[in-house]
Amino acid sequence: MFQKVLIANRGEIALRILRACKDLGIQTVAVHSVADSNAMHVRLADESVCIGPNPARDSYLNIPSILAACEITGADAVHPGYGFLSENARFARILTEHKITFIGPSSHHIEIMGDKITAKKTAVELGIPVVPGSAGAVSTEEEARRTAAEIGYPVLIKATAGGGGRGMKVAPSEADLIVAWSTARSEAKAAFGNDSVYMEKYLAKPRHIEVQVMGDGQGNAVHLGTRDCSLQRRHQKIWEEASAPTVPKDQQMRIGEICAAAMRKLKYSGAGTIEFLYENGEFYFIEMNTRLQVEHPVTERITGIDIVYEQIRVASGETLSIEQDKVPFYGHAIEVRINAEDPQTFAPSPGKISFYHPAGGVGVRVDSAVYQGYTIPPYYDSLIGKLIVYGRTREECLQRLRRAIDEFVVDGVKTTLPLFQRLIKEPDILSGNYDIHWLEKYLAANK
Ligand code: ADP
Repeated sequence: MFQKVLIANRGEIALRILRACKDLGIQTVAVHSVADSNAMHVRLADESVCIGPNPARDSYLNIPSILAACEITGADAVHPGYGFLSENARFARILTEHKITFIGPSSHHIEIMGDKITAKKTAVELGIPVVPGSAGAVSTEEEARRTAAEIGYPVLIKATAGGGGRGMKVAPSEADLIVAWSTARSEAKAAFGNDSVYMEKYLAKPRHIEVQVMGDGQGNAVHLGTRDCSLQRRHQKIWEEASAPTVPKDQQMRIGEICAAAMRKLKYSGAGTIEFLYENGEFYFIEMNTRLQVEHPVTERITGIDIVYEQIRVASGETLSIEQDKVPFYGHAIEVRINAEDPQTFAPSPGKISFYHPAGGVGVRVDSAVYQGYTIPPYYDSLIGKLIVYGRTREECLQRLRRAIDEFVVDGVKTTLPLFQRLIKEPDILSGNYDIHWLEKYLAANK
């Protein structure tokens, strides 16, 4: 097992990783920007190193600084968390070259899944169902017309290097195709420096369903069930549930087994998430995230498995301690993301937290790195905490979530808590009847 793990992240996830290290008896190194000198993960770590100024590109994305912090402290492994360098194949490779373990999959697997076209091709080879679409990049007008006619309208044009929904355009009919195609290309060029685009059938009312997987790089892999993350604003998830409430149990287990089998074939190592759109009883692969995800706690809650603990174990060379037929699935869990944002306009609301009282009681877990008197810096994402609630049934879970949202107090900054207070009264939310467009439509209608 590792002696010392460097946590290349900040906020609640840095603390989450630190806690898993403590449970494993591993020493921890926190790295931080100047603005994060007083952060909780820095206070609780055994050692800390300031790696640069406030902008993330100078600190949390600064590979030479992080490498230097590893050398100074003698860390033998790095946990990247999510965001920042977590899906940076070059970072994983450089660490390996310096004999430091990257707690995550191989740089090769990060690379394959990081490119949308290769990812989709790999998914097909591994037997994972995908959205019907072009075989690869669509680079001429003539090819765009032919491919769209084959797929059938409406079609979606997507950037190969895409992320966060940028460089995506819908063409409802042939009349819109060429404009949509060339706009997607120029947007992709501007956002990613790469104008390569591909095409897919546009699904009108899908749900976002994802499968959590874990492998040990030695051919063992399991799935830990599904999550529904359909409630999104601008492709940002705000509310996640496990298991997916509207997908029949047998379908969940079938897609889970397809994903686990694929990961065995790939000899995948670490945690991963395979994301699907789900419509009319069919799953369509959209992408795989080769890292820990924000919403992993809902899966932990319904399976009793500590995903971060397991990530660290397998990265150290141990075999997976989980057997598929022994993974229990019990009850229901929901996570809501408490962001320091205006609940109407979603404008960031950094500043000092003057009063803080997290919710508690039966079935409640709060993953957060803030405290009373803490000042939220303006430089990073606005997530201040995750409220994760469990119930034996979805109804019980919603009941406790309502109680927990009411109990939670964050004063001094605006938060998304008032939005959740409204959402939890909505009949569609209570019945689970929502697709990936529901939240944006709701927000537009309830300004
Ligand atoms: P990105 O990496 O930019 O987030 P994704 O492929 O994950 O790109 O797609 C982002 C979002 O766009 C999905 O979560 C979904 O809401 C929507 N989307 C993607 N593909 C399709 C499709 N074929 N039909 C309808 N919506 C889609």
